[in-house]
Amino acid sequence: MTNKRIKDGDQVLPGDRLGVIEEFLPGPGTFQDQDDVIYASITGLVRIDMSERKIHIEAITRTPIFPQRNDIIIGDVQHVGKKAVIVNIFQVGGHYCPIPYSGSIYIKNAAAGYVEQMRDLFQPGDIIIARVQKQILGMARLSTVGPRLGVIHSSCSRCGQPLTLQNRRLVCTGCGNIEQRKLSKDYGKVYELMHVDESDSPPS
Ligand SMILES: [Zn+2]
Repeated sequence: MTNKRIKDGDQVLPGDRLGVIEEFLPGPGTFQDQDDVIYASITGLVRIDMSERKIHIEAITRTPIFPQRNDIIIGDVQHVGKKAVIVNIFQVGGHYCPIPYSGSIYIKNAAAGYVEQMRDLFQPGDIIIARVQKQILGMARLSTVGPRLGVIHSSCSRCGQPLTLQNRRLVCTGCGNIEQRKLSKDYGKVYELMHVDESDSPPS
């Protein structure tokens, strides 16, 4: 055990000695033993309020990756409604999300020009690249308007085999079925940790 003097801003682990009760009033994230020694009970940063001689530990939490406006995300289509689709976002700005995040694309933000129904552009299971327009109530509003945005991988809705691009048409490698999507020009490329330059997308 070291008797190194703890100071404000030090990073500590559970069980690290912080001081004694004569020095500090123990606060959140600390505990004291029967000898009146104060220890950290959590991983975090030491915070000392000298005016009140209080010590507490500010928890260090891993910063979750939340999609921010204009971030480029990759996700898979969970649900296709008539006017909107729900997307499970698993990559933001080239980084995997430790916690999956939900997004939605509304029909007016799906493609340039008139779209009658979302089924003409997306199917469940499609992997898409999209741009975050804004965040509302913990859900990202997404846009796939722009040449690099849209579907980058899809499977046949009849037999489940991958759809490949042949003469600008999506053709099933299994049954020959022809389907339609709002395609990214990066369709078929490896999407893992793909970095998409935001400047390729039009401003909202
Ligand atoms: Zn097929």
